[in-house]
Parts: sequence; structure tokens; C-alpha cells
Amino acid sequence: MQDRLRIAIVGYGAAGQAAALFLSAQGHALSVYEQAAAPGPVGAGFLLQPTGLGVLARLGLHDQVLAQGQRIERLHGVNRHGRRVMDMCYADHASACFGLGLTRGSLFTVLRDAYRDAPRIHTGVCIEALSEDGEHLRDSQGGVHGPFDLIVVADGAHSRLRQGVSQQVRRQAMYRWGALWCLLPAEQWPHRTELRQRYGGTREMIGLLPVGQRADRGGHWLTFYFSLPGEQVDAFDAAGLARLQERVAALWPEAVPLLDGITSPDQLHRARYRDVVLRSPVHGRMVFLGDAAHAMSPQLGQGVNMALLDAEALADALAATPQVDVALQDYRRRRRDHLAVYQWMSRWLTPLFQSDHDGLARLRDVAFHPLSRLPLARGQMLKILMGTKKAWWR
Ligand SMILES: Cc1cc2nc3c(=O)[nH]c(=O)nc-3n(C[C@H](O)[C@H](O)[C@H](O)COP(=O)(O)OP(=O)(O)OC[C@H]3O[C@@H](n4cnc5c(N)ncnc54)[C@H](O)[C@@H]3O)c2cc1C
Repeated sequence: MQDRLRIAIVGYGAAGQAAALFLSAQGHALSVYEQAAAPGPVGAGFLLQPTGLGVLARLGLHDQVLAQGQRIERLHGVNRHGRRVMDMCYADHASACFGLGLTRGSLFTVLRDAYRDAPRIHTGVCIEALSEDGEHLRDSQGGVHGPFDLIVVADGAHSRLRQGVSQQVRRQAMYRWGALWCLLPAEQWPHRTELRQRYGGTREMIGLLPVGQRADRGGHWLTFYFSLPGEQVDAFDAAGLARLQERVAALWPEAVPLLDGITSPDQLHRARYRDVVLRSPVHGRMVFLGDAAHAMSPQLGQGVNMALLDAEALADALAATPQVDVALQDYRRRRRDHLAVYQWMSRWLTPLFQSDHDGLARLRDVAFHPLSRLPLARGQMLKILMGTKKAWWR
């Protein structure tokens, strides 16, 4: 049994929220720091895979997220000529299997409400660095916090604390592509249980994912996303919105009425992604979780799953031994192979959907769907989708 540890959690996104729940249940003394003055969800909605649902079940939150979200049975994507590029059903893996479309707000609220000490989170505190003794944290106002036996770094893809451990960073490049995304009312949308995508070569991708209810309003909702080169995401303005609406009309006329309520570029969130690979997620008393450790492009829809699995694995490693350094090495081993497979795949698959390489779109459109019909390849693709692929050879 682990002694009661003094643990800092930096960042209250999915990774930090799940870590707070697992580690507080083990009786540790937590100090949670979040830079936002009023912590809340960022972005629209996402697809949670069966692996992530399994972690929420362990936290006792499975039924709550099921009640908020939308069961997704099928992923379906066609190119601008209507040719099928992707068509995968969860039930082909196992009849009870499904993904869950969920708004960011729903997940945030369910995880926050389950954390008894949520009112004691240190909000509006931007942690900038680890102090020289390796036990304290410094914030942007010069405040010092600690000492801590363990520091859980969950400050996201653009992690500040990661900049202080450059020797551990193998990659942290920005992708050239990003996306605009928002929630749209889903009442008129007929494909309630499907993630639908439309591809215009590799340069344009539109997605519509049913995500169930919003924490703050009734009705059913969809996450809409539109991928663009990063500089266009950064400079997105009224002219950019008019162009986006034109391109949706050209590529996917059925989706045009959904955008009726979008009149200002500020109604769309902007997302840029990084490809982060660390030599080790452990550095002294610090352990990096979630996007801070392994941000990837959202192409495989695994980031929230990974963050939840990280938090669960860290708690299990800490429960197995009273020695923090041994537990952290155990944590690294528990997550290493699974993460390596997804980091590699995400890096190599992303250009098939977001890049300037038109030839890749032709190859994808000809080969992807026929390949996915072959029994062996299909089984592997379904495992990848569900987040269960742990090594190449298994
Ligand atoms: C367009 C898009 C679509 C996606 N779709 C999916 C999907 O379908 N399925 C899926 O599983 N994943 C998806 N993802 C990925 C997923 O959103 C991320 O992997 C996940 O949110 C990572 O969680 P996190 O807690 O590690 O980081 P974050 O959610 O980024 O949380 C980090 C937190 O740390 C705080 N913070 C940052 N710096 C500091 C600091 N210095 N001090 C204190 N606090 C700080 C931030 O304010 C934030 O609250 C998508 C991502 C994008 C951009």
C-alpha cells in the first residue's frame, strides 16, 4: 500500500481531471493547478473509444457519460466524387462495441462533478517551471508551490514544463495543418449514429460527429470540423468563413443548412496540433501525462482515450509499490508500447488526410476501402480504431 503522497497536478484537462480522481481515491494529498481563471472545456466534441469508456467505467462514470453522449456505430467517409474511402462498423469487431460522441463540456462536467475537491483547485495559476531542487513549482507571478513527492504534468500539447526538460524531448514539431471546429444543432441531421467525413483530396476534410447533449443546453448536437493549413487557421476571418461556406457547399451540399447559424469567424474554435515524442515521460519526480507527453494529430481520434489510460496506469503503478521512483518506471513500461504504436501510426496516416500531397489522396481513395475489406487488415484497423492495438505483432 502506498503512503500518502504530496502530489501536484498541473493542468485540469482530461488527463489532469482523470488523474485527480484516481489519485484522490487512493488518499493522496493533491494540489491541482490550472491556468484558466474559470476552468472549462476547450473546443467542441470528440469521439471516445471503448478503451476510454473502460477507464470511465472504472471511475464509476460510465452511465453518466452514456446518458450525455451519442452512441456511434459506424465511421463513414467519401471523397468529392462520392467514392467510399472509409466504412468501418464497431459491431464488426464485437456486437456490443461502439464509440461515444461526447461534447467537451459533458466530459469536463462529469469529471469535475465527481471530484470532491474541485472547489479547491488553484485556478488562474500558470505553472512555468520546476524549481532547482526538483520539488517545487514556480508560477508566472513568481509564486512558489510545494514541496511535492510527485508532480503530474498534464498541461497539454504546448506544455510549458516540457520546455524545461528539453533533453527528454525527441519531437515536438507543429503539424502544418490544423482545423476549425464548433458545435451545431443536430435536429435535422439524419445520420445520428455515424461519424461522417467528406474528403477533397488531402487538402480538405469535413467531419460531422453526433455528440449527444450539451451540458448547458438541451437538444442534440454535432461536432463540425473543417481542416485547413495552419496559417489559414491562425488567420481565419470573415473572408475565411465565406470561403469555408463555399467549400462546404461544393463538397457536401447536404451539410450546408447545418451552418445557417454560423455568421462570425469567432463561432469556430481554432486547433493546431503537435507531434510530441518524449524519450521518457519520467523526469525526476515529474511524470508527463496526456498531450504533454504524446500529443498527436487527431486523425485517429485517440487523444482523450490516451489521457484517460495514462491516468489509470499511473494510479495502478502507484498502487503496486510504495516507492515513487519504482512506480514511475513501472508506469513508463505500462504505457510505452501502446503509445509508440499510436504515435507512429498517427504520424504516418495524417498525410493521407491532411497534406499537400495530391498523389496520396489518389492512392488512399483507390486502396483504403478495398484494403479494409480484407479480413486480416479489417481486424487490425478495427483494433486501431478502438484504441486496443498494443504492439505491431499482437
Ligand atoms: C480538432 C481536434 C479534434 C480531436 N478529436 C479527438 C477525438 O475525436 N477523440 C479523442 O480521443 N481525442 C481527440 N482530440 C485530442 C484530444 O482533444 C486531446 O488529446 C486531449 O484533450 C488531451 O487532454 P490533456 O488533458 O492532455 O490536454 P488538454 O486538454 O490540452 O488540457 C491541458 C490543460 O492544462 C492547462 N494548462 C496549460 N498550461 C498550463 C500551465 N502552464 N499551468 C497550468 N495549467 C496549464 C490548460 O488550460 C488545460 O486546461 C482532438 C483534438 C483536436 C484539436
